[in-house]
Amino acid sequence: MDIEKILNAINSCINCEGCLDICDTYLVTGNLLQSPNGRLKLTKKIFTDEYVSEEEINAIYTCTLCSMCDQLCQKEIPISEIILNSKMRLVQNGLGPLEIHKKIMDGIIQKKNSVNGNPEERLNWVPQNHLRTEMFENKNSDTLLFLGCMSSFRVKESASASYELLKNADYDFKILKEEPCCGEYIYSSGDLELAKKIFMDNFKLLTKAGVRKIITTCGGCLYAFNNIYPKYVPNWNIEITHITLIIYDLYKSGELKFKKLKKRITYHDPCRTGRKLDGMDIYNEPRELLRNTSESVSELSKNKEFTPCCGAGSGIRGVDSNISIKIGSSILNDILTEDLITSCPLCVFNYRYAGYKTQINKRIKYITDYLLEALEY
Ligand code: SF4
Ligand code: SF4
Repeated sequence: MDIEKILNAINSCINCEGCLDICDTYLVTGNLLQSPNGRLKLTKKIFTDEYVSEEEINAIYTCTLCSMCDQLCQKEIPISEIILNSKMRLVQNGLGPLEIHKKIMDGIIQKKNSVNGNPEERLNWVPQNHLRTEMFENKNSDTLLFLGCMSSFRVKESASASYELLKNADYDFKILKEEPCCGEYIYSSGDLELAKKIFMDNFKLLTKAGVRKIITTCGGCLYAFNNIYPKYVPNWNIEITHITLIIYDLYKSGELKFKKLKKRITYHDPCRTGRKLDGMDIYNEPRELLRNTSESVSELSKNKEFTPCCGAGSGIRGVDSNISIKIGSSILNDILTEDLITSCPLCVFNYRYAGYKTQINKRIKYITDYLLEALEY
């Protein structure tokens, strides 16, 4: 967005405050600076180069970029896009990103992942029985299962279960031996120049590996490849999908068969597999898969495009983990079942963390991990 358009959009706000009660960060902090309306006012200061305090910069960086406000603003202001652009402006002016972002970005450059994982342990999730025969880049397949940092290091069962299900269906795919970070973290921290370099490096690597289609497990990687790469990578020509959609197709074609588990579950829609995706949403397929493998599937009080963020979007865990815990635990308190299933490893991770910190005992599972349990061999 150019600055004139941004300022026009900001000035069209009528201060109706209709966006306050739908913003999770405002709901848990009660701080107007951490509301869509409050942040919009801050972005005006940022784009007109007025002085902004440390507290105000922090308020910008505690936005989860969940996009809930965008769809409910009566003036149709693209609030989250403006907040993202304001982070880029902060970086240009030497006021962003925060120290925590710089530390994580250094880790991405040096260790090729955003979670401080040991690169030598990146493939520890690969099931032992497949490791001996896995050919990685050398396999003659144009379809890549891209695990991302969270699945590779923090929620490894989301990687191994996805891999196992595809192998069980004899699906033709490969994985990379040295998978890079997708760069979404850097992009949403506002360092556009570094993010663009990572996108271009990754595109070269993917092209060299003969990749024409990417299957992601992580909502953040899906969002990056689907929404962001096409904007910044000339000649981007790679098809993008999510593991849930592939498993759904394999289920419909009869290549994967599932039994019903004696479980009552609730499903949570990640922002980045639904509301935030351009030209795609993944609402019905996970529900159909889960209805056929469970006694019942319950919904959150708000679901699909109105589902709240898990509380970890856009790297806010590192900026203010208390907000992530409060948002995550408020959702855990909203569910009536013992089991919560979701389709993004970052959501799984944050719910487990919020549950641990607040002593809410719920079982949180990544969708393919749940489906693997229901697989009929
Ligand atoms: S809903 Fe839109 S118009 Fe109303 S205060 Fe929020 S940003 Fe402004
Ligand atoms: S994108 Fe989400 S967290 Fe950020 S201001 Fe909008 S509703 Fe609040």
